[in-house]
Amino acid sequence: MRVVVIGGGAAGFFSAINIAEKHPDWKITILEKSSKLLSKVKVSGGGRCNVTNGRSAPAELIPFYPRGNKKLYSVFKQFSTSDMVDWLSQRGVSTHMEEDLRMFPSTDNSQTIIDCFLDQCKKLNITIKTNWSLDQITQNGAEWLIKSTAESLIADKVVIATGSSPATWKILQKVGFKVTNPVPSLFTFNIKDERINGLMGLAFPNASVKITNTKLEESGPMLITHWGLSGPAILKLSSWGARELHQINYKFSILINFLGDLSPNKVREDLLVQKNNHPKRKITNYPIYDLPKRFWTQICVYCGVDEEIPFGELPKKQANKLVEELTQGLYSVNGKSTFKEEFVTSGGIKLSEVDLNTFEARRFTGLYLAGEVLDIDALTGGFNFQACWSGGWIISQSI
Ligand SMILES: Cc1cc2nc3c(=O)[nH]c(=O)nc-3n(C[C@H](O)[C@H](O)[C@H](O)COP(=O)(O)OP(=O)(O)OC[C@H]3O[C@@H](n4cnc5c(N)ncnc54)[C@H](O)[C@@H]3O)c2cc1C
Repeated sequence: MRVVVIGGGAAGFFSAINIAEKHPDWKITILEKSSKLLSKVKVSGGGRCNVTNGRSAPAELIPFYPRGNKKLYSVFKQFSTSDMVDWLSQRGVSTHMEEDLRMFPSTDNSQTIIDCFLDQCKKLNITIKTNWSLDQITQNGAEWLIKSTAESLIADKVVIATGSSPATWKILQKVGFKVTNPVPSLFTFNIKDERINGLMGLAFPNASVKITNTKLEESGPMLITHWGLSGPAILKLSSWGARELHQINYKFSILINFLGDLSPNKVREDLLVQKNNHPKRKITNYPIYDLPKRFWTQICVYCGVDEEIPFGELPKKQANKLVEELTQGLYSVNGKSTFKEEFVTSGGIKLSEVDLNTFEARRFTGLYLAGEVLDIDALTGGFNFQACWSGGWIISQSI
């Protein structure tokens, strides 16, 4: 049996290795367009490779996949994060879990994963061709004809694992696949505003952010950057809102509660407590709720609080303005920036085109798809790679 895997990334390698292990007598070839193999694995997780996540039950995993979601329940039932951890361990790669449940190789070096995959390929006699770009693919009876500009190959089974490549989606559309228009996901928000200007690096452990006129609302750590806002709360919004925010050209307003779920009334009460208990304390010197001091001073000044006055003399008008700014600060977002640690594409081959029990194309026998080429994407945390591992594993078992 001749199997050709197109794409030398995470999903391509994982499919090829597992197919070769299950069928040692088959001839497996990986074709990669560029001169580099596993290049995204190399840069992933800031060079450490956030390879998977500590959550393992399918019900716990699917909420992290805005595209895929419930459809992935049965996928993770077949091959979940813990299976990946075992898989790596059986091949000599140990992993460790961080407090937020992200998992990395114990070396904290993505090269460990790359070396593991390349070693397996060598052991299993998998042929790898680089600088080999798929230009055309056609079905000819039970066989597939795969063409680049320079060479043609014939395969009995084909795995497409070309990631988010617009040119390759066009080639697949010619075969007859339906594609959801790709748009970026996992990005940060561009905001120019005097309230956060010059405060880059300041973090809020549990902010709550709502995009006005939408149902999009997320909470979690938030970070002020040079160009606006980042951190898990913002990245989650960018992922869930990937399509909606693209439609409005990334121009929208957000309401920020810097104090998570504290209500305006509670904050007003707590300001009053400060007023009664510490009437002589200079307001700008004593942030409430451990807010970063530079932010507190800047927001106090913005609200018209005199830098010299103590809590005992805080006028009602300024107190109300402070409460509003802390719990319902309205900010205008104008554009997005790349989150360099991880970004993905929302969109790709529609999931209705694939049987997720096998990852075989419903309308094309012998053709399988895995990884980001499909309309599956997730929040940060090792979930995007896990979709590649699960898809690749299922292909190896069903092919
Ligand atoms: C900077 C960065 C950091 C990331 N960090 C993490 C992380 O820590 N954890 C996590 O879970 N996810 C992370 N991700 C997301 C993750 O890298 C992707 O979801 C994953 O790599 C997708 O794997 P894939 O095999 O589907 O596609 P890719 O890894 O993109 O591989 C596809 C391959 O196919 C090749 N190809 C495309 N078209 C053709 C063609 N026509 N012919 C032949 N070859 C072709 C491409 O050159 C490429 O090598 C990160 C992404 C980025 C950009």
